[in-house]
Amino acid sequence: MLPDSFIQELIAKNDIESVVSSYVSLKRRGRNLVGLCPFHGEKTPSFNLYPETASFYCFGCGAGGDVITFIKRIENLSYIDAVKFLADRVGMTMPEHTFDDGAAKQRVRILEANREAARLYHKCLYSETGKTALDYYHRRGYTDATIRHFGLGYAPDSFWFLRDELRKKGFHDEELRAAWLCGRSQKGSIYDLFRNRVMIPIIDVRGNVIAFGGRVLDDSKPKYLNSGETPVFKKTNNLFALNFAKQSGQKQLILCEGYMDVIALHQAGFTNAVAALGTSFTADHARLMARYTDEAILIFDADAAGQKGAQRAIGLLRDTGINIRLVSIPDGKDPDEFIKNNGPERFKLLLERSANDVEYRLIEVGKRHLLTTSDGKVNYLKDATALLAELHNPLEREVYATRLATELGVSKENVLLQINNQIKRRRKQQQERQMSQIVRRAETMQGKANPEAAKAVRGASAEEALLGILLLNPEFLATIEKELQPEQMITAFNRRLYETLLSRHHEAKFIELSYLAEEYEAEEMAYISKMVKDSRERVSSLTLDQARRYVQVIQHEHELRGLQNPEDLTPEQIQEKLKTMKQMKQ
Ligand SMILES: [Zn+2]
Repeated sequence: MLPDSFIQELIAKNDIESVVSSYVSLKRRGRNLVGLCPFHGEKTPSFNLYPETASFYCFGCGAGGDVITFIKRIENLSYIDAVKFLADRVGMTMPEHTFDDGAAKQRVRILEANREAARLYHKCLYSETGKTALDYYHRRGYTDATIRHFGLGYAPDSFWFLRDELRKKGFHDEELRAAWLCGRSQKGSIYDLFRNRVMIPIIDVRGNVIAFGGRVLDDSKPKYLNSGETPVFKKTNNLFALNFAKQSGQKQLILCEGYMDVIALHQAGFTNAVAALGTSFTADHARLMARYTDEAILIFDADAAGQKGAQRAIGLLRDTGINIRLVSIPDGKDPDEFIKNNGPERFKLLLERSANDVEYRLIEVGKRHLLTTSDGKVNYLKDATALLAELHNPLEREVYATRLATELGVSKENVLLQINNQIKRRRKQQQERQMSQIVRRAETMQGKANPEAAKAVRGASAEEALLGILLLNPEFLATIEKELQPEQMITAFNRRLYETLLSRHHEAKFIELSYLAEEYEAEEMAYISKMVKDSRERVSSLTLDQARRYVQVIQHEHELRGLQNPEDLTPEQIQEKLKTMKQMKQ
């Protein structure tokens, strides 16, 4: 447990506005700030920051909480690591004895095991056993400097190499399994998961070895084996080589399909290349890229799978608002091959001449229609204007409209009119989609944190309103405590929250969102911060009297629920309940 005084100082020094604004560009709106939510893709801002309560809430996806919860989610850290992150940010030293937290300890052990494993694999590569693997790298054209830079290695063809070495270094079997380095056979013995593979360590932006990719040397299957998810590794939260790319000093990031391509590009001097990790590109990847760059250059294979991947990535990246350019490699080669055959200078030219995605997609649309027929022209115009309607910048739309008009021999006004109609249609669809998303997300958010709320709507909403008032006016707790017993709370989650508030009140501790983040998960924090947000919006009813009215509703619901299962009650209990209900009405 961290002392309150420490958290208090941490929060005072890390004011939420400055922390969040390094991830989200915020605009002031009245007393609050708004911006595009970093937790879900959106084009109109629904992410709200409330400096007064030092909290945030997104109306789009229901994410919410205090500054620690924000860092927890955006940096994908545990509570204790998020606190450490914020402490580092302002030069505070963590109090001692805080690392007895089991999960944090396990993460540290996994990272240590990974680092050791990377070291052992690398050493093995340069031993007699690793000769074929080293030949493989050299055949691919990797220099020893590149191999060292990326910490590449070799996992020998043994079931016990890594297990035995790491056991010698004091790692337990459970730690090796948690790190996804070893598995357990049906007979219960522990064995290496990576065998006879060239090994590529995956390193996060903080320099930790968080996972491995392993590729076979021959034609056996699977060709690539990647670490599964572990407490330190989530595929969608990481891009291979982002640790180097973010220091490349380049304005763009180059997105490739695989890590072999990335390594080849870095060796050729394109140190801003990254790749998703053995999984398809996701919205999380897109948001991660948008945090480090304003422009992405996509390089995808010319085959059908590659093209499909590119389309997907374009859509997701577009949602983040960054610029996108596309490079297609002539003759369907991959970048590695192209650079080998033509040299880095020619590749640099390809990058410079890369079309932005609109040009590229217009060409693709054009290919689908027969422009020599008038039907073909009409359909082309329809598809092309639908595409241009996606552009946010009116100037950009105008440029392409002019080009399209000339190409098809129609007036520019006509093209622009069609684009505007498409925009209106899209906007309407988007709004409808957004509305239903908001409703759905709000429901799941509440459902995850407090599943009982759906079955006790009246009681739960009174509880939420009461807790919201109490979080904003902790001084009411002294009175409310005398009138409402925790057992009378209808839903278990709200009962637990009420108990937390009461015990913090008794210990004279702070009762604000930030002090709850240690005990509550991110989803629960979102639910709690929604209570606070909703209460803030009913400013006029933030009174003790109003709080007491909610208490009465809760008690009434509690009594009713007691009667819903009368068979569970003894006759005396039923009499007792009826009597108290009568008293309440008086
Ligand atoms: Zn959101």
